[in-house]
Amino acid sequence: MSKIRIGIVGYGNLGRGAEASVQLQPDMELVAVFSRRNDLQTVSGIPVYTMNQMKDFKGKIDVMILCGGSATDLIVQTPAVARDFVCIDSFDTHPRITEHFTTVDKAAKEGGTAALISCGWDPGMFSLQRVFAESILPQGKTYTFWGRGVSQGHSDAIRRIEGVLDARQYTVPKEAYLNAIRSGETPEVTAQEAHLRDCYVVAAENADKAKIEEEIKTMENYFVGYETAVHFISQKELDRDHKGIPHGGFVMRSGESTKGTSHVIEYSLKLDSNPEFTGSVLTAYARGLHRLASHGAKGAFTVFDIPPAWISTKSDAELRSHLL
Ligand code: NDP
Repeated sequence: MSKIRIGIVGYGNLGRGAEASVQLQPDMELVAVFSRRNDLQTVSGIPVYTMNQMKDFKGKIDVMILCGGSATDLIVQTPAVARDFVCIDSFDTHPRITEHFTTVDKAAKEGGTAALISCGWDPGMFSLQRVFAESILPQGKTYTFWGRGVSQGHSDAIRRIEGVLDARQYTVPKEAYLNAIRSGETPEVTAQEAHLRDCYVVAAENADKAKIEEEIKTMENYFVGYETAVHFISQKELDRDHKGIPHGGFVMRSGESTKGTSHVIEYSLKLDSNPEFTGSVLTAYARGLHRLASHGAKGAFTVFDIPPAWISTKSDAELRSHLL
């Protein structure tokens, strides 16, 4: 059988993560990387082309994996690429997912392609767990916790404070809530109450550390309402102990089938590298999307629309004998 021909659009952390994952797939080959920058070398040596050259690859790439940023890239890039290619993205701006779906759906239908949006771990794997949990236990409460993991947005916000040289912010779920839910309780808790914001900050030599800490804790939209811890450390310590991009979290549902008979569902992820894991989810779902498209599907889709068997390299018979 011929291999699924993959293209990657956007070459940042996630682009490199998807590239690494495609190399692990026996049924895929990476054909090209597309970038707005023209001086790039890829880790695998696959050539980099400009966005304008993408049209030359029509009919030569089966699935484009879009790895641009959610803030400004994907909202424009996914509908544009969907006009010519079957494509998949990891769009994670939750309040704008419906709007993004509508735009991509229109473009894909006009182009006669299929596009899968918001595929990663959240949204993505966590979304699937929420659907499973709520469908199986309609009576109950669902919780999502994020972390321990680096929030790039919060880390950037701290770096903008005067006197700060570098910073890393971890979002950390509070154990007390995790344990209460694990024991069958259904506490009323907001995302703000359930997470700690743990900040590691490198300050300039003469900087006023008390003032920096105050500015962090009173930053609207980022830290206000959260329990926030600030630790001042040296650049050497930050480089040594806080270099990676780990993340993860939990989806939990505590529910009852009959009165007094309770059940707890827990799905957790502990990721050394957020972009490498997200790239791996995108790659597996690129396989499922390719199969969906080969059945003639057109328009926008999400992880909810892909049967689990379709993301696997195993045949249906192998899945039944090995994994059922
Ligand atoms: P990056 O900032 O590393 O890359 C985003 C884009 O910026 C790239 O596609 C690239 O485009 C450009 N870029 C990257 N590095 C540079 C640079 N040094 N100079 C100039 N431009 C650069 O973001 P990530 O790859 O870490 O993340 C991409 C998105 O993935 C995030 O915005 C997030 O929304 C999403 N995501 C989703 C998850 C989920 O669970 N659904 C989980 C994790 C991430 P180009 O090559 O065209 O210049």
